[in-house]
Amino acid sequence: MDDKFDCIIVGGGIAGLSAALTLARSNMKFLLVERGEFSGAKNVSGGVLWGSRLADLVPDYWQEEAGFERYVRHRRLTFLDDQSAFSIDFKSDHFNEQPYKGLIVLRSKFDNWLAGKVEEAIAESSYPEDSFIATNILVDTIIMESGRAVGIRTGEEEFHADVVIIAEGVNNLLTRQVGLQDNYVPADYMATGVKEIIRFDQNVLEDRFQLDGNSGLTNEFIGFASDGVEGGGFLYTNKDSVSIGLVLNLKSMRENLSQDRKVYDILSHFKSHSAVKDMLRGGEVVEYSAHVVSTGDQRALPRELYTDGVLLAGESANLLLNSGKAIQGMDYAMESGILAAETVAEAKAKGDFSKNTLKEYRKKLDDSYVMKDLRNFQSAVQFLHSHEMFTSVPKVVNEFGRSFFTVDNKPTPKTPAMLKDAVSKHSSLWNMIKLGIKGARSL
Ligand SMILES: Cc1cc2nc3c(=O)[nH]c(=O)nc-3n(C[C@H](O)[C@H](O)[C@H](O)COP(=O)(O)OP(=O)(O)OC[C@H]3O[C@@H](n4cnc5c(N)ncnc54)[C@H](O)[C@@H]3O)c2cc1C
Repeated sequence: MDDKFDCIIVGGGIAGLSAALTLARSNMKFLLVERGEFSGAKNVSGGVLWGSRLADLVPDYWQEEAGFERYVRHRRLTFLDDQSAFSIDFKSDHFNEQPYKGLIVLRSKFDNWLAGKVEEAIAESSYPEDSFIATNILVDTIIMESGRAVGIRTGEEEFHADVVIIAEGVNNLLTRQVGLQDNYVPADYMATGVKEIIRFDQNVLEDRFQLDGNSGLTNEFIGFASDGVEGGGFLYTNKDSVSIGLVLNLKSMRENLSQDRKVYDILSHFKSHSAVKDMLRGGEVVEYSAHVVSTGDQRALPRELYTDGVLLAGESANLLLNSGKAIQGMDYAMESGILAAETVAEAKAKGDFSKNTLKEYRKKLDDSYVMKDLRNFQSAVQFLHSHEMFTSVPKVVNEFGRSFFTVDNKPTPKTPAMLKDAVSKHSSLWNMIKLGIKGARSL
């Protein structure tokens, strides 16, 4: 074996695996190093893989026992106050079309499945014996020579390559090591995600959530769920379980949590809401996990996404958008992984791995929906920081819901009067108008 690779990928999450699959199909010789026992072993995600890009990597993936749990057919956004739940609900057969536009996944399964696809692609490539996925190995250092990355160090061993794709995820130590990101990222740009998997009898799950075949539900929650902390809750249906959890802003957590009130208490609080309890009745908690996640604030992006011999893909570059409609971290990881690998293949054809060639990656990303959306929806990211969004708005919405849907033996006020009453109880008309305009502009 020639001991130099065309490319080394650090991290076998979605970004790293998407890059690897693309490299294998471009007949490149590469090494992917993953610190977990297998791809997915260290990953936490809610999670929905949005978009249909997977079908480009694995055509007709839905025809096999693929790594996904269910496709998204039913979406719901729920405002919670102490007593009530007011939902915007959308279910459509247009979601039944393949390739699906959203897949509910469990990462330990999905990433492992995708890694299997990489192995298949390696076997069919020009380097079946010389490209590898190596698991259970932690990359300590990116080896730099004269300001250029030339390989990686893991313990005592060194591996060399023309270029390194760093796809290490949100705890981006190597990204910082190569100088692309400052050590300090303000807590306001970061969140903590906590998640439980609650298992059910599959028939019970399908009846309770009206799931047909492989179809699934995504439900996001605002208000009571985060108990005064900036953030929200989610519930996604898997095959025979639900993923339920919270994504909470780190700075707001520091300000609102104490010795006596931990993240787990907020999750218990969320689960204690009667509407949520109804959904979880009879289920058994089988897994609990927590992980840092970016908020989608573009100020958290590294100063650049490439340097000599290095490209950053996925959340190692904080590529994630939480616009309120969805968290998009996995599809951004997939897209950026593919584009990084395509850039590497072009650099190889040119025989130049300097930043002068690798800057093409930035251009590709800028031209893609990833950077376009990330820029266009920054006001939505800021909008989600509005204190009213997770405090007064859910209360106003539910106050109104209670009046509107209650029929009693009393004279019924007209709807605008109900709305005015609900607003005046929990906020002010001026505040709600300002928020409404901000929301309409940002989305
Ligand atoms: C609770 C929660 C809910 C979420 N929900 C969603 C959702 O619904 N939809 C969505 O799109 N996104 C969601 N996200 C975000 C999403 O999970 C991430 O954006 C996505 O996983 C990023 O993929 P990645 O490949 O860049 O990084 P990761 O998936 O983090 O993969 C990085 C990999 O690199 C490995 N690694 C790290 N350092 C090293 C090293 N030094 N050496 C070797 N290996 C290393 C890790 O073990 C890991 O496997 C959620 C996140 C959380 C925490």
